[in-house]
Amino acid sequence: MLLENFRPKSKLVVKQTRITQAKFPVIDAHNHLAEPFGGGWDKRPVNELIDRLDAAGIVHYVDLDGGWGEHLLNKHLDHFKSAAPERFSIFGGIAWAEWQNQGKNFPVWAAQRLRAQKERGAEGLKVWKGFGLNVRDEMGVLVNVDDPRLDPVWQTAGELGLPVLIHIADPVAFFDPIDETNERWEEIGEHPDWAFTSPPYPPFIHILDGFSRMVARHPQTTFIGAHVGCYAENLGWVGAMLERCPNYNVDISARIGELGRQPYTARRFFHQYADRILFGLDMGPDVDSYQLYYRFLETDDEYFNYNTGEVPQQGRWFINGIYLPDEILAKIYYRNAARLLKKSMA
Ligand SMILES: [Zn+2]
Repeated sequence: MLLENFRPKSKLVVKQTRITQAKFPVIDAHNHLAEPFGGGWDKRPVNELIDRLDAAGIVHYVDLDGGWGEHLLNKHLDHFKSAAPERFSIFGGIAWAEWQNQGKNFPVWAAQRLRAQKERGAEGLKVWKGFGLNVRDEMGVLVNVDDPRLDPVWQTAGELGLPVLIHIADPVAFFDPIDETNERWEEIGEHPDWAFTSPPYPPFIHILDGFSRMVARHPQTTFIGAHVGCYAENLGWVGAMLERCPNYNVDISARIGELGRQPYTARRFFHQYADRILFGLDMGPDVDSYQLYYRFLETDDEYFNYNTGEVPQQGRWFINGIYLPDEILAKIYYRNAARLLKKSMA
């Protein structure tokens, strides 16, 4: 038998809780509605989407797929907000490729684009992980995350009151050599374009340190670090950044696999930073996945798969629930996100 065909079934007899509804209304602060992450809902009927969100108890959904061109942003705003004006927040993005054409004027131009996006109804800015990995300036030089030339962009987001949800780098193991010691070996095998082995890519911690400096330099701008601050493997590091930067928050999207394999550390982290952590899924409006997240946050169930598939997709380990108390659950599920998105339910 090949190792890749191994499908061990746990023989543990332990409590298994089926959570169908979260204890509180939920704001999904990190998700998508277009391809490839959101399931192509920009081409499907909105009432079906709303049925799903109702089934999962999602009262508000942040769609990060507004993109950088007017066309996509308008399309999303028209499609989703015309059907349900209060149910969705659409975030725009930065057209990095325009750096070539705009030259030295790019940061000012990008800041102006933010204003235009806000006028059209965007409620935040999504920065995709290419920033720090592939984004290049007009000379073709890789741009560091803390490049001061971009200060006008982050400053303008702050002036406009647009939260910046930013994903930089990726799981630490994606930066390591892809060999028999790499804990994400199977996942990288499925998605070879997710490997950012350094070199030639910058070291993981170089990107993270630049990010931390950039967030500290813009205390008037609200930042949300995607995927537990882009470093779920090291909650001590993320906690230290939260301590240094009062304008910084994190979402838990696509990372219960990491959090639930360090349940004691994760539980302490949620207690300590209860006001700074947002719920998010990042897998489209998938009811089964939502229920897994609720199970992780609410129960003390042990040793369960963090994915809905047969083999856990981010590594062959199982997770444990962290049984958060109600006052913390309410903050994670909706209060923190409502505050940052300026929704009245806070
Ligand atoms: Zn995402």
